[in-house]
Amino acid sequence: MATSDHDYYELLGVARDADDQEIKRAFRKLARKLHPDVSEESDAEVRFREISEAYEVLANPETRQLYDRYGHAGLRSGGFTPRHFDLGDIGDLFSAFFGDDLFGGGGRGGAARGGDVAAEIAIELVDAARGTTATVPIQVAVQCATCGGEGVQPGTHVSTCPRCGGSGRLQQVARSIFGEFIRTSSCPQCGGTGRVVEHPCETCGGAGRTLDERTLEVDIPAGIHDGQRIRLSGEGHAGALGGRSGDLYVLVRVQPDERFVREGNDIFSQVDLTIVQAALGASVTVPTLDGDVDLSFDPGVQPGAVQVLRGRGMPVLQGFGRGDHRVLVNVTVPRRLSDEQRRLLEEFERLSDAGTYDEADEGFISKLRSAFR
Ligand SMILES: [Zn+2]
Ligand SMILES: [Zn+2]
Repeated sequence: MATSDHDYYELLGVARDADDQEIKRAFRKLARKLHPDVSEESDAEVRFREISEAYEVLANPETRQLYDRYGHAGLRSGGFTPRHFDLGDIGDLFSAFFGDDLFGGGGRGGAARGGDVAAEIAIELVDAARGTTATVPIQVAVQCATCGGEGVQPGTHVSTCPRCGGSGRLQQVARSIFGEFIRTSSCPQCGGTGRVVEHPCETCGGAGRTLDERTLEVDIPAGIHDGQRIRLSGEGHAGALGGRSGDLYVLVRVQPDERFVREGNDIFSQVDLTIVQAALGASVTVPTLDGDVDLSFDPGVQPGAVQVLRGRGMPVLQGFGRGDHRVLVNVTVPRRLSDEQRRLLEEFERLSDAGTYDEADEGFISKLRSAFR
């Protein structure tokens, strides 16, 4: 059973539509602040458990969906039980979650994970509807070919760090409200590598990495929304000393299309009918995501009427089906009339009465529909 009755989004301080990265970032920030080993606050442990639980639920699409729809009660009836982390293991758990160290030091033995790389691409709405492939140019740090990522000029000597004895880590006894514990930190003298390089590699200056220009083909799934990110695992910067590479995050901007307005998976567009087309009925070509289609409008169609093209909206991202396309009728009124047009309209007005305009002949259902319009 869930232990927290607080709102999980509020606990993490994120919006309800926050994406995975935002949730992860928020949790990571709070965890660093609230972990009982580092926080002086008396309720740190309780709060730490709460944010861990919130993160556990929101990081998993299944439990997040359950929680979004039915709240805490939904999780309970769905059988969700938060893992009660042993706080002593949280550092390892953190590495498992985030691939780095809770307290920000280098990885053990100096093998640090490479940084993430961000890139941005812009695609058209119609391409977002079909799914597409985009070419993304990026600059990434790659393992240095001269030293194989070791940062050492080949054939030269490397000595063991005298301060940490080669482990890369320093241990200190620290006191907290939970008693004494041993805090491990990265050795400042060797930066966690455990060794002192006397002759750094001349190609990379000892960094073990050099910059490389790359172009990646990125598959953009159909239905993607503006502002979503695609993660390409391991395509970021190379890690130091054999650490694994970071990830590439591609921010996808979906360009606005002047013909369509997107709302979620639905598409809205407007069709202009002249007063004569609206009065007599008309067949008109309208653009859709799949190309032009002919739509027919009944005689007497009113401004504000909506014709729904079921399943012609955006595809559901990583799901099935498509949203709808709603075509809104606008009726355009002549702004300039010739003498003859004016005469004909005056004649038309003379022949009209209330019955020309009332809805008496419309069926019950269409009346009902107008009422809800
Ligand atoms: Zn090198
Ligand atoms: Zn050291």
